[in-house]
Amino acid sequence: MTNMIALVTGANKGIGLATARQLGTLQMTVLVGARDAERGRTAERALRAEGLDATFLPLDVTDAESVTAAAEWVEKKHGRLDVLVNNAGIVLGDGERALPSETTLATLRRVYETNVFGPVAVTNALLPLLLRAPAARIVNVSSEVGSIGVMTDPAGALFALTSVPYPSSKAALNMVTAMYAKELRDTPIKVNAANPGYCATDLNGNSGFRTPEQGAEVSVHLATLPAHGPSGLLWGFQMDAGGGYGVLPW
Ligand code: NAP
Repeated sequence: MTNMIALVTGANKGIGLATARQLGTLQMTVLVGARDAERGRTAERALRAEGLDATFLPLDVTDAESVTAAAEWVEKKHGRLDVLVNNAGIVLGDGERALPSETTLATLRRVYETNVFGPVAVTNALLPLLLRAPAARIVNVSSEVGSIGVMTDPAGALFALTSVPYPSSKAALNMVTAMYAKELRDTPIKVNAANPGYCATDLNGNSGFRTPEQGAEVSVHLATLPAHGPSGLLWGFQMDAGGGYGVLPW
């Protein structure tokens, strides 16, 4: 059988790089999506040095031309896509942290461009190629802070958090996931949202208590679900349930 083809967005560092490495270790051909050529090539070199079949693919998920060009490249080179991990994501910059009542639309738009519109644009561009694969998997890297259930549970660890842009972008991504899962329910494609848990990456000043590798395990699990596996779930690290893996509430 030929290798499976996997594309990970934002794969030059953090959880995305770890996901690319783990998928490569499973003998997949990994397309290392990155918006910066130097950072993308550095990641490609690192993965190849480990013996993995990795190729840098220029991809800025907020840039329509870049998304189209990436999809055209995958079409020409491979003709199909088996795994898409929509991993690229951003949080607030310095000086953007604010109460909901003080949130600016500029901040909201910036975060949504990457965290919500990006995955939709990339998925739509690649869906024809995902439909050509025998049983493609789409993983949207979300977060427990996108779970309204988790964030509004007075007994939960995240109840004190009050921020609109990042949490609501992940809540929107959760709904995006559920809607694609419904649209594609009569196809072999499974679409799920991943909660990596709080992992030490540049996203949070490396303050997370989990490793990027542990976060990547969640995406890889969902990217390799068997035919009888679920679709349309938020699945991953369950902080409020003692730290195992499982389904999180929307
Ligand atoms: P990270 O180390 O900051 O990595 C983020 C990646 O996304 C980088 O490769 C970054 O590229 C890329 N990226 C950002 N904007 C992009 C764009 N417009 N186009 C293409 N790539 C772009 O953060 P991370 O923690 O690994 O985050 C990965 C995913 O996990 C995100 O979706 C995040 O929301 C989610 N997540 C993380 C945690 C956590 O605790 N770390 C928890 C829950 C969910 P550059 O290097 O060019 O900036």
